[in-house]
Amino acid sequence: MKIAKNVEHIRRDIDARLKALGREAEAITLVAVTKTYPVDAIEEALKAGISHFGENKVQEAMRKLPLISVPYEGFHFIGHLQSNKINQLLSLKPALIHSVDSVYIAQKLHLALGRSNRYQDILIQVNISEEESKSGVSFNNAITCIEEISRYSTLCIRGLMTIGKLDAPEVSRPLFAKMKELFNQVKEMDLPNVHMDYLSMGMSHDYHIALEEGSNMLRIGSALFGQRDYKERR
Ligand SMILES: *Cc1c(COP(=O)(O)O)cnc(C)c1O
Repeated sequence: MKIAKNVEHIRRDIDARLKALGREAEAITLVAVTKTYPVDAIEEALKAGISHFGENKVQEAMRKLPLISVPYEGFHFIGHLQSNKINQLLSLKPALIHSVDSVYIAQKLHLALGRSNRYQDILIQVNISEEESKSGVSFNNAITCIEEISRYSTLCIRGLMTIGKLDAPEVSRPLFAKMKELFNQVKEMDLPNVHMDYLSMGMSHDYHIALEEGSNMLRIGSALFGQRDYKERR
């Protein structure tokens, strides 16, 4: 029941903040990040009105998804994608892959999709903090990379994703603002196979700032499900 309360609380909070920003008419997608949490927690969230959820490991998603007995709208993949996991990931029919971070992985996806005559919505992950430890294309390479990936006809680029800094959320504000600028810039380029609909940024600790800077897709885990215990991950 705690999860249902948290879902309700976060939804109200998002609505109040959108209203304060004059953005109440806009649709915001709340992606519940369910990594490390058990299937019954996912089901509880789905019953409480969550319709999109995200996992960051293909192996873990392969184990959990078949066990989910409550219907949902979209499974999102938000973690670093390795080429040897692509077929498994595609078998789970992700609504959106947030984490395409190289032309190489886009090409591998394109080849796998072509073999089964499928299309896939993706986001391009941008590493705004330029931290070595994070995946994502660098800010300076983003446009070139998007132009190249837009040539893959099986992929539809639906927007951008980024992970803010893990320290004080205000530190990410100028970086989120830069993301929004990049988002608008790509939108104006009007490239084939590019529909800039989603700007995926904002997690439990920084979604307020992300909303203020123009995010329309939030990925929230611990604020819904409580502290993660990575030991629980199998
Ligand atoms: C874990 C994770 C989140 C959610 O983080 P919380 O701090 O629990 O809200 C969001 N995005 C990505 C890519 C993640 O790996």
